[in-house]
Amino acid sequence: MRGEILMKNIILTGDRPTGRLHIGHYVGSLKQRVELQNAGDYEKMFIMIADTQALTDNFGTPQKVRDNIIEVMLDYLSVGLNPEKVTFFVQSEISALPELTCYYMNLVTLSRLLRNPTIKSEIKDRGFDNENKGIPVGFANYPISQAADITAFKANIVPVGEDQLPMLEQAREIVKSFNGIYKCNTLVMPEPIIPQNKVCSRLPGTDGNSKMSKSLNNCIYLSDDSKTVKEKIQSMYTDPNHIKITDPGKVEGNTVFTYLDAFSTDKHFEKYLPEYHNLEELKEHYRNGGLGDMKIKMFLFNIMEEILQPMREKRKYYEKRIPEVINILKNGTAEANKYADKTLDEVKSAIGINYFSDESFTNEQIEKYDR
Ligand code: ATP
Ligand code: MG
Repeated sequence: MRGEILMKNIILTGDRPTGRLHIGHYVGSLKQRVELQNAGDYEKMFIMIADTQALTDNFGTPQKVRDNIIEVMLDYLSVGLNPEKVTFFVQSEISALPELTCYYMNLVTLSRLLRNPTIKSEIKDRGFDNENKGIPVGFANYPISQAADITAFKANIVPVGEDQLPMLEQAREIVKSFNGIYKCNTLVMPEPIIPQNKVCSRLPGTDGNSKMSKSLNNCIYLSDDSKTVKEKIQSMYTDPNHIKITDPGKVEGNTVFTYLDAFSTDKHFEKYLPEYHNLEELKEHYRNGGLGDMKIKMFLFNIMEEILQPMREKRKYYEKRIPEVINILKNGTAEANKYADKTLDEVKSAIGINYFSDESFTNEQIEKYDR
């Protein structure tokens, strides 16, 4: 529900242009976006390339951000996101966003920002907890800027991975607080949607440690070629105590099985491992001993190839049409600006700082001095 009338959904998501997108993005968010796109139950679907946010921890290497704008666009197009149905835009080109951020910053305390568990672990990952480095204000502030991204478009649905739930919580608090303080319904309450399959909402890296993340160098990229994917899968973390094939093996915490949980279907078994009916049977055999790592890794490789090969082909198509890709982004950005500007006007009028577009301001002031 938005306001009084039942409106159709507005969906917004985004990614930081800090590197190519990986299979964690795919199961965590991209796959859902394609499904939502194809279901068509929305008024508008926005996808943002979050370059301003990427600069909060990459300000010293802006070339990295610049280099990854089109890289991420190619990833989007290669997974089947359709420019006819989706509005793609660049964050730094939407000037209403930093303005909204400014007004929201007053509604959040510093201690609240630093309590955010994703921010806490990212501060560690990036070494900002080191005394000599310190936490850049812009970095600590990015959950507020993300609230601006979401609310500027009045998004009510935000499909994300698990690490983004604290950001959504922060955005929801800002919406509640803004609408409460300024006694309005201007901002729309966003709902996150995360994948139902738990492993998909936080796919671990190939090293078995923490989440797969561009900043941690533990990724299988959507644009990796066959050979690279094979090498990465072959060196994946499994069970260090499963040395001989006959040894019983552990499935929990075994990254190959985690990926099979995320990607395999019974159809894949029929096609590549017909001696097993499903993943449960395969796990059982591994636990009992007698099943080698190479066999499960090859199975995973076949599944990944089935998913990645069509993406590589679409990508190749768009790589030959870069000006067209840039145009898609440019046109989407122009359209996104219209939406965000409208929300900014509403926000300013809710606060009462819309002096020149509000006639009652002139009248109030005339009356005040008309003594
Ligand atoms: P960075 O290291 O630069 O933060 P990232 O790999 O974390 O990069 P983001 O651009 O921050 O990627 O995340 C984009 C979206 O993808 C978010 O919705 C996030 O929750 C989701 N996502 C990222 N990594 C994973 C993962 N390993 N599993 C599931 N979802 C993920
Ligand atoms: Mg991230």
